[in-house]
Amino acid sequence: MNKAGRKGWSCTWKFIMSVVLTGTILMVYGTGLSASSAESQLRPGQAPEQILTGQSSMQVPGGPASGHTSSGTPADPSQHKRMAIIIDDAGNDMKGTSEILATPVKLTLAVMPFLQTTKKDAIAAHEKGMDVIVHMPMEPNKGRPEWLGPGAITSKLTDEEVRDRVEKAIDEVPYAVGMNNHMGSKITSDKRIMSIVLDVCRERGLFFVDSRTNFRSVVGELAITKNMPPVGNDIFLDDHNSKPHIRKQMDLAAKRALDKDVCVVIGHVGHTGLNTSAVVHESVSRLKGQIEFVGISDLVRDVWHWQAEPKLPTDNK
Ligand SMILES: [Zn+2]
Repeated sequence: MNKAGRKGWSCTWKFIMSVVLTGTILMVYGTGLSASSAESQLRPGQAPEQILTGQSSMQVPGGPASGHTSSGTPADPSQHKRMAIIIDDAGNDMKGTSEILATPVKLTLAVMPFLQTTKKDAIAAHEKGMDVIVHMPMEPNKGRPEWLGPGAITSKLTDEEVRDRVEKAIDEVPYAVGMNNHMGSKITSDKRIMSIVLDVCRERGLFFVDSRTNFRSVVGELAITKNMPPVGNDIFLDDHNSKPHIRKQMDLAAKRALDKDVCVVIGHVGHTGLNTSAVVHESVSRLKGQIEFVGISDLVRDVWHWQAEPKLPTDNK
């Protein structure tokens, strides 16, 4: 090999070595990147139940969901960013009900008992694959009694009367897997009454979602003592009836779901129904690549291993 030939071979060898070296560096770097992105999705040590309740010192039955820790990086990253949208006040032919039922993701319809479209709305939601819960009217600290609706829980009722009203309300709403409170700022801070309400729910295989109309609510702590999921509302969507406000609340909810993995929100049919349903529609199509929209029963099952097992009354379907 002459001098020129040796020089050419040397250049080729240097080139091959540099390609191998660069490839090795890229492989090592790439492994590090995928490991760190898996870590950021899993967020070890972050218990979803603490996020839902905002009560980090509480012991949660069942512990964190096994799906969060067993399989490493999920196939679909959005499965760890979930939002449950509960829509309250159905059951009285309220404005926006059909629009809400046409939402192309799973929602939860909270249906008031003993009203003209109670059964119709519950059956329609169930047939769309949505969750149905009983929207139990409960006395507020302020507000007119006529806003409560029939069969309401009030502070003057005896233990037996509370039990009877909760039983009858559950019997009224077909396919109900849980319950939340309509109004109820007074009742949800009353230990005697809420203890009976939760007992009946548990006996009937239903969970209770605290709508959080009162920050002094005792529902979360009572649920834990009864081995029930301490699930509650994080954000009201439509406390002001305007699309810009509801959009702002949806953005807050999306941020919470992305930051903390789960978020529970409540909106309404009725007075705000058309605005709420319109913003929910546009938001779910905008966010569905990042956030999975689930029923509230999916959250209580995955976070607390609570399997809703409604015990059917004689006249329930
Ligand atoms: Zn309500």
